[in-house]
Amino acid sequence: MKEKIIEALKAKLNRRVWDSWFSTFDVKDIGENLVVFEVGNLFIKDWLEMKYGSLIARTLREVFNRPIEFKIEHAPLQNQPEEDEHEPLVRKRPLVLTPLNPIFTFENFVVGTGNMFAYSACLEAAKHPGKYNPLFLYGGVGLGKTHLLQAIGHYLFKNQPEMRVVYLTSERFLNELIEAIQRGTTQEFRERYRTKIDVLLLDDVQFLIGKNGIQTELFHTFNELYNAGKQIVICSDRDPQMLDGFQDRLISRFQMGVVVKIEKPDIETCFKIAQKMVKLEGAELPEDVLMLVAEKFSDNMRRLKGAIVKLLMYKQIHNEDIDLAKARQILSIEPSTKFTTVEERLFEVLCQFFRVTTEELRGNSRKSNVLIARQMGMYVAKNYLGLSLRKVAEMFNKSHPTVSNAIQRFELNAKSNKSLETILNKLLEQFREKTANQ
Ligand code: ADP
Ligand code: MG
Repeated sequence: MKEKIIEALKAKLNRRVWDSWFSTFDVKDIGENLVVFEVGNLFIKDWLEMKYGSLIARTLREVFNRPIEFKIEHAPLQNQPEEDEHEPLVRKRPLVLTPLNPIFTFENFVVGTGNMFAYSACLEAAKHPGKYNPLFLYGGVGLGKTHLLQAIGHYLFKNQPEMRVVYLTSERFLNELIEAIQRGTTQEFRERYRTKIDVLLLDDVQFLIGKNGIQTELFHTFNELYNAGKQIVICSDRDPQMLDGFQDRLISRFQMGVVVKIEKPDIETCFKIAQKMVKLEGAELPEDVLMLVAEKFSDNMRRLKGAIVKLLMYKQIHNEDIDLAKARQILSIEPSTKFTTVEERLFEVLCQFFRVTTEELRGNSRKSNVLIARQMGMYVAKNYLGLSLRKVAEMFNKSHPTVSNAIQRFELNAKSNKSLETILNKLLEQFREKTANQ
């Protein structure tokens, strides 16, 4: 009976979960209405009760053909020295947890323009595996593909621990196949990936470009999983169609479900991502520094993170606060001759203050913060800097009438809206400060 229970449980769990959490799990006693299990330590006991309690109950019901109670006790391992009471229990027996980056969760992902669709698709895939199959996610380097892919893994580990979820890079997939061929264990390799997985999260599939053998392997793996209704999520740095040197039959498989592009986040989202990263490090940086980083590294969140880590390291090593000038220096961002003209300085202040870009100010965006920044900028340029209407129009890439209209509207608004005046004063203050620092 003991073996039967253990076997039944083992069959319901993937190997990693089994090895991580059940390696010390044993049946201690089987009574009339109660099965007593024993595990290595208290931490594992709590974890198993919380995460796998219902699975254990279900399994026992199946094995005994009736509901039966169970209890988990913890006992020190026989071959381990007596436990030191002051040591935290967890540390004594290091557990092999999932190889996922603990930071890459849905909670830690900042949703904004550019990545909203990708985020939602991944969350749906995590909530309803098999619904959108396959899910193909593509986009440039550092835009959060791996983060989202692993977030699906985290979500499932947490909410459906009995599911066998595998996250792997295409490179590892290839290396494992090569190793299996060398060792003559391709059969096991195939079984592992074709029949023992409920959710496959395959990263950086573009790595397999031009590698025909592994593509054939992936094709068969894909088909078996797909036909069994198992969720497949694939990431790539490019559209499936652009996977030159990929077998056409694979490309058409990739396009069978949902194809989602992840795009560059806007500056505001980058700013929030920067904020999140700093918070996750348990540190702090001033807002204008975060804005500088957001603007400079908006095309790649990995570089953005690198910049933040660099700033925080500097802060820690030198025990010094980081202001804008220092941040520029550390990140080798030229304070620049670029901002020497008064117009350019105004743009810089506007961008930082309202979290907009020069492109937005000079373009046709109707977002409310861009509108206010634009109007206020024109007003300051005309009335405070005394620039001609022609010059202001040129600065903002607009016609004369548009500029004079905008300025009039701003003046009218400022009369009835006290807070607008306060904002204007703050902006002017920053502008003066910037000029003084030049
Ligand atoms: P990719 O796989 O697309 O190259 P990653 O997923 O490795 O990119 O992301 C690079 C870094 O940026 C990671 O540290 C990731 O956590 C972070 N990142 C990217 N997008 C976001 C986001 N929207 N919110 C929070 N962090 C993000
Ligand atoms: Mg990646």
